Amino acid sequence: MTLSTLWVLVEPTEDSLTSTSLEMLSHARTLSDNVAAITWGNGASFAAQAGDYGAKTLYDVGDLSGALPGVPVASAIQALIEREGAPDAILIPTSYDGRDVAGRLSARLDRPVLTNVAGLRDESGLVTEHPVFGGSLTVYAKFTSDGPGIVVVRAKSFAAEPAGGVPATVVAATPGELGATASATIVTSHVEERTGPKLEDATVVVSGGRGLGDASTYALIEEIAKLLHGAAGASRAIVDAGWVPYSHQVGQTGKTVKPLVYVACGISGATQHMVGMKGSKNIVAINKDPDAPIFQIADLGIVGDVHKVLPALIDALKAR
Ligand SMILES: Cc1cc2nc3c(=O)[nH]c(=O)nc-3n(C[C@H](O)[C@H](O)[C@H](O)COP(=O)(O)OP(=O)(O)OC[C@H]3O[C@@H](n4cnc5c(N)ncnc54)[C@H](O)[C@@H]3O)c2cc1C
Repeated sequence: MTLSTLWVLVEPTEDSLTSTSLEMLSHARTLSDNVAAITWGNGASFAAQAGDYGAKTLYDVGDLSGALPGVPVASAIQALIEREGAPDAILIPTSYDGRDVAGRLSARLDRPVLTNVAGLRDESGLVTEHPVFGGSLTVYAKFTSDGPGIVVVRAKSFAAEPAGGVPATVVAATPGELGATASATIVTSHVEERTGPKLEDATVVVSGGRGLGDASTYALIEEIAKLLHGAAGASRAIVDAGWVPYSHQVGQTGKTVKPLVYVACGISGATQHMVGMKGSKNIVAINKDPDAPIFQIADLGIVGDVHKVLPALIDALKAR
């Protein structure tokens, strides 16, 4: 391994680090023997989980007193670099807070950022992989100047696999003087109601598209997702139409999913949709047009009307 040190920004939720954080840690430990994580808020309570996935150290920025993470976390990382020396690269998740940290860190360190990264390998330095044009081409990039590379990684780029490591050692990482830049605070936050698994973590995803015909038919998608203990997804067409919230969108500008089974119902298979689900293990497509592009990547294709096929599927699942 030629990479001496990698830092990974790991985002806390109520009860765990996010799945993208665990994916990045899992991959980072295959590239470097010295992986450290950086977190904030209640993140330090997940030192055992961070260690299990490969972090030796967990730098803790601590309580942000209601501030958004971008400003204090970027400042703390800059202070850490001044104190401990720069890592080869800092891996940051593609999330709202992750992107905020990355942009601010880039400005503070005067270093470039590589975004939309879906692969990372070591070739006498870090080589990053970027899908472009809806995933039909891949661009490879490498930092050519000295200093830490700032790399913003897409969800589901790597498998999250625990390694059985000991809990990471928690070390405080204090932000520098922030002045007025940290004066924006979180006033309220809204957690969207959900009954089943999270879309990005579900083993079965059932998605609907414009072929459903109207918003009310989406209830069939939700029912099948529930019967299969999965999550309900959507194409952008029906998100833009206001049938379902954006949080359901799968694709280039939505979520990337890699379930065991992905069921696409009334979805044509535009490249921007497929880039978010083509890594699924088994793809089932239901479409009335036998020439729909989705059939090119489907393992099982059903040429039929969703208004007939979906109710029949519900009956069959209930009968089991
Ligand atoms: C920059 C950019 C980013 C984008 N990002 C995303 C993204 O993240 N996710 C995304 O999904 N899209 C994205 N899009 C949009 C994408 O290009 C497509 O427009 C969109 O995916 C189409 O959604 P759809 O398949 O539901 O609708 P359509 O393309 O209209 O397809 C509907 C399908 O339903 C079938 N159908 C119709 N009636 C029935 C029926 N009764 N029974 C069965 N089948 C039926 C039709 O044969 C057709 O194949 C993006 C576009 C751009 C330009």
